[in-house]
Amino acid sequence: MAQRINQARFDVVVLGGGASGIAAAAAAAKNGRKTLIIDSGTMLGGELLSGMSLDGVLNARGEYVVGGVSDELFAECRNMGGFIGPVHDHRLICYVCVDPEIMKIAVMRVLDRHGVTPWLQTFAEDMVVRDGLVTGLVVVNKSGRTIVTADHFIDCSGDGDLAVLAGAPYEVSDASGDLQPISLMFRMSNVDTPSLLRFAQDNVESLAVGESEYIRGNRSDKELVDLLVKQGEPSLFFKSEGPFLGDAIRRGDLAPTALIMIQPTSKARREVCVNATRLGGNIDGTNTAAVSATVGTLMEQVWKTSGFLQKRLPGFEKATFAGLAPRVGVRETRRIMGDYILTKEDVVSGRKFPDSAIAKGAQHVDIHQSGTTQIRIPIANGGSYDIPFGCLLPRGLKNVMVAGRCLSATREGMGTARTMGPCMAMGEAAGTAAAMCADRGHGEVRELSVGDLQNQLKKNGAVIDGVY
Ligand SMILES: Cc1cc2nc3c(=O)[nH]c(=O)nc-3n(C[C@H](O)[C@H](O)[C@H](O)COP(=O)(O)OP(=O)(O)OC[C@H]3O[C@@H](n4cnc5c(N)ncnc54)[C@H](O)[C@@H]3O)c2cc1C
Repeated sequence: MAQRINQARFDVVVLGGGASGIAAAAAAAKNGRKTLIIDSGTMLGGELLSGMSLDGVLNARGEYVVGGVSDELFAECRNMGGFIGPVHDHRLICYVCVDPEIMKIAVMRVLDRHGVTPWLQTFAEDMVVRDGLVTGLVVVNKSGRTIVTADHFIDCSGDGDLAVLAGAPYEVSDASGDLQPISLMFRMSNVDTPSLLRFAQDNVESLAVGESEYIRGNRSDKELVDLLVKQGEPSLFFKSEGPFLGDAIRRGDLAPTALIMIQPTSKARREVCVNATRLGGNIDGTNTAAVSATVGTLMEQVWKTSGFLQKRLPGFEKATFAGLAPRVGVRETRRIMGDYILTKEDVVSGRKFPDSAIAKGAQHVDIHQSGTTQIRIPIANGGSYDIPFGCLLPRGLKNVMVAGRCLSATREGMGTARTMGPCMAMGEAAGTAAAMCADRGHGEVRELSVGDLQNQLKKNGAVIDGVY
C-alpha cells in the first residue's frame, strides 16, 4: 500500500528538547531563523525536568561559566518563584538549583518568546543525506510520517540519533566496555532543613566534603560541614564510606550507591530532589526494551529509599514522597566523533582554546560505576575548561552539528561535559552557528568563521572568556 508522507520546511531543525536542544532552538530562533524543535516526549526539558541541580553552570569558585539562554531560563524561574540559585557543595562544585515544575513552564515561555515551533511526541526515524549534506529528517507522530527539510540540523538527542542516522562515526564506552549506571530521581517535600543540618553537624564523618585541593584549602571536614550548615540549604551528600550510608547499605536498607545526594528544589514546598538509586550492569540506554525493563526495579529502589529517609534521617520524619522524574535517567550512550575530541587532559587541566572555544564546562569528571564506586576527578584550581567548536562538528557531515551529551569527547571528557551547564552552552553555540550560516549563505557549517561565532555568542551573553 502506498504511504502518504507529509512535508514541512524550516531553516533549522533541532532534534531533542533537553538542556542542549532548548538552548539550540532558542538561539537559532533568536538569531532570526524559522526553527523547529522535535522531541519524543510529552513535554520539553529532557533531564532538565528531573529535579537535579544544574551543574557546570558555575565553576567551583562560584563564577558563572555559562550564560545566554540559560540566563533567560533562570530569569523565568526566578519570576515564578522557582529559582533557588547557586549553592556550594563544599565538596567539588557550585551548582544552580531550580524548581523542576516551574522549569517546565520557563522552557515553554523562552521558546514561545523566540517563536520556536515545538513538535512533541514525535520520533526521528530516518535521514535523507547526499555526500554528507543532509536535506531531510523523516519523523513519525500521530499525523503519520513527515519529511522535514532544512538548511541545518542540530542533534541534541543525547544519544546522537540524528548524527548516527546520517552516517556519523561514534563511540560507546572505552576499552573497559563499561557504561554508567542508570537512575531514577525522586523528590520529597515537607523536609525540615534545620533538623537535617543539625544532623549533618553531628555526623560530619558521614558527609562527602573537600574532595579537591581547591575546595579543601587545608580545612577540616568539620569546618567544611560548618560552611554547608551556614549556607542553610538542604544540600548534603552522604558518602558510602561514611557510617550513615555505609551501614544502611550493609543492613540492606538501601541498594548500593556511591552517594545519596540531597538538593533543594522548592522552598515553598520545602522540597528536595534525591539522587540515590542506580542500576549497573552496562545497560544500553539506546535499547528501549532494556531501559523499560529497569523501570519497575528503579521505582522499588525509590520507594525503599524514601521510606528509609523518613525513618532514619532527621528532618525527613514528616516528609512525604513528592514525585518521580519524568523518565529513567540514562547517563551514557553514544559519543559522536567530530573534528575535535575533548579529552580527560583537556578538562582536568582546565585547558583553554582561545581560537575555537564556544562553551565552557566546570564540573569534575563524574563517572558513576556499579555498586558503591564512582570516579570523581576535579578541574584544576576550581576553574573551567573550554569546549572547542570542533566538538560539535560530526566527521563526514556538512550541515549537521551535535550538542549536549552526545558531543565529540572521550569517555572522561563526556563525563564532565554531559552536565546541564555545558549542554546549554553547546546548544546555544550550535543554534547561533546554524542561524549565522543561514544568514551568510553558508551551506556547510565549516565555512563559518569561529571568531565571528564567538563574537555573536558573547553579544548574546554567552561566556567564552573572562573567567578562570
Ligand atoms: C541519573 C542522572 C543524574 C544526573 N545528574 C546530573 C546533575 O545532578 N547535574 C547535571 O547538571 N547533570 C546531571 N546529569 C547529566 C545531565 O542531566 C544530562 O547529561 C543532560 O541533561 C543531557 O542534556 P541533553 O540536552 O544532551 O539531553 P537530554 O536532556 O537527554 O535531552 C534529549 C532529548 O531528546 C529526546 N530524544 C532523544 N532521541 C530522540 C529521537 N530519536 N526522536 C525524538 N526525540 C528524541 C529525548 O526525549 C530528550 O528529551 C545526570 C544525568 C542522569 C541520567
